[in-house]
Amino acid sequence: MRGMVFTGDHRVEVMDFPDPHPGPRDVVLRIDSSGICGSDLHTFRRPGVAGAYQSVDPNEMRAIIAGHEPVGTVVERGTKVTDAEAPIGLQAICFHYSGCGTCLFCRDERPQLCAQMLGYGGNAHGGHAEYLVVPVETLVPLPEELSANAGACLACGTGTAYGALRRLRRISDQNLLVVGLGPVGMSTVAYASALGARVIAVDLDEARRESALTYGAETVLDPAAGDVVALVRELTDGYGVDSAVETSGSTPGRQSALIAVRQEGEAVFVGLGGGNLDVAMDCDVVLAPRSIIGSRTFSKSELAEAAQAAADLKLPLDRMVTAEFALEDAQKAYAEFAAGAVGKYVIVGAGA
Ligand SMILES: [Zn+2]
Ligand SMILES: [Zn+2]
Repeated sequence: MRGMVFTGDHRVEVMDFPDPHPGPRDVVLRIDSSGICGSDLHTFRRPGVAGAYQSVDPNEMRAIIAGHEPVGTVVERGTKVTDAEAPIGLQAICFHYSGCGTCLFCRDERPQLCAQMLGYGGNAHGGHAEYLVVPVETLVPLPEELSANAGACLACGTGTAYGALRRLRRISDQNLLVVGLGPVGMSTVAYASALGARVIAVDLDEARRESALTYGAETVLDPAAGDVVALVRELTDGYGVDSAVETSGSTPGRQSALIAVRQEGEAVFVGLGGGNLDVAMDCDVVLAPRSIIGSRTFSKSELAEAAQAAADLKLPLDRMVTAEFALEDAQKAYAEFAAGAVGKYVIVGAGA
């Protein structure tokens, strides 16, 4: 089968791999849609090393197929997987992690925190391929109202937005600041406004700000045009927002997300971007009490909840997907997405 790997220096390569065969508790998914995540761009941009790939199994030094937002259809299963667990033809999102199964974090359904974590599309083969073999436990059936592309959104980006909002005490009737309007930020805007929050959304890019208004943001702010914290206070009777979700990972984004939150408010940080937070702990966290909350994607049951909520709230995830590419055109897909696209990019029909 064909699969895509990162080769470094903004290059990808689609190459041949052996067809996958399921172990006793595995299923084989024929890939329907496989999303491109903002976090993939960090790997895409890494410098190349002659003769090597950017994603490599350290034990076997073999290239690893990228893509950690897979949605596929069950076409084969191992000898110890029952029909009830994974009927042939079931369309499912792959919860893209597995772990040892017994540690504190695995028991809490957060294998992404396990010391032995496997991430599909990271250190194990992922969804930018025709087929993917994964443990049956990773499957989250796709609600029938949702398309494969909507499932690919949920598999990391949109699910991460939901996971961030789950950390907050309250969403309905609250003032919520969303910093960064890539797919995670845009999904946060869509969920939060559908759940009754008044959303203020921030991004440097005008097209993204315009787009956020169509997903329910009440106000959009350009951080280049003024002090975000001062503008947020003006919009909230001087208090600041009840909560913030930071998705940019930049230093100014992180800084404003925390300080724009009112006293006794909460800021959730989900973006990865290498930025820092220079906080006056006495004044900004103790005397003006604010909660700093980190969130790494979601648990498997939160992913199932996120999918059901997307269906129930009629989240316009299909509209959020602004470009579809064939697997063989993955280079073009990554280059365009890395240039700062609006919306979500997916690789579709690789396994058709
Ligand atoms: Zn574990
Ligand atoms: Zn991701």
